[in-house]
Amino acid sequence: MNIGPYTFDEFKQKAAEFHGYAAPGLLVGGYMVELAKSRLPQGTLFEALVESQKCLPDAVQLLTLCSVGNGWMKVVNLGRYALTLYDKFTGLGVRVALDPTKLEMWPEIKGWYLKLKPKKEQDTDRLVDEIRRAGPSLCSMEEVVVPERFRRKAQMGAIGLCPVCGEAYPAHDGGVCRGCQGEAPYERLDQRQDMTDGPRLRAVPVGQAVGHKALHDMTRIVPAETKDPLVQAGQTLSPGDLCELQRMGRFEVYLEGDAA
Ligand SMILES: [Zn+2]
Repeated sequence: MNIGPYTFDEFKQKAAEFHGYAAPGLLVGGYMVELAKSRLPQGTLFEALVESQKCLPDAVQLLTLCSVGNGWMKVVNLGRYALTLYDKFTGLGVRVALDPTKLEMWPEIKGWYLKLKPKKEQDTDRLVDEIRRAGPSLCSMEEVVVPERFRRKAQMGAIGLCPVCGEAYPAHDGGVCRGCQGEAPYERLDQRQDMTDGPRLRAVPVGQAVGHKALHDMTRIVPAETKDPLVQAGQTLSPGDLCELQRMGRFEVYLEGDAA
């Protein structure tokens, strides 16, 4: 059965190019998106609300103009394999879900969806063939309305320059950017120098770093006890320091590139 403008095999190919491989969830998702689209009145300017992070957002992006990046798709991760396409002005739309009561005829799909057997025992060819033959019959559908608060676009508002990192950020986040408030999803290797024209760094196993100078502080955090640096920048590393570093789970340290 076709998926929108594509044959099943064409969609499988597109899925592989876009998603890395033709994931079963994406193939099922293709039918779900097309089912929802087919129930919206012709010419509806619609947006998408997806209840799973896995695969389904990619099906929406492949088959509609909605993406997370353009703001026309929202992912509200409820962990349910369901999506809603709705009129962006009225919120009226259609919710399509993969329905566990409709899987009895399709043992491979049921086994995959409900995780009834380990992945290595799955018969992928059979699974994909079942998905192709089942098409949108696996889905249940209902009319819904998406309230205004889920349709509203987040306004960025005024832009500030963060006094700590110097980068631009939405001023309503506070006096410094959220990254500098402790939400940055990474740790800097060296807080004191600009990496672009700083020295070349290389990571070496802890055991090879004895006698070299530490480039940055390394801190062991024991809740409610200490977060003083164990090693301070510029300190020459002793064998004892390196044991301590290994004990706190650090197995490599950074040295300047020309340090032997
Ligand atoms: Zn900042």
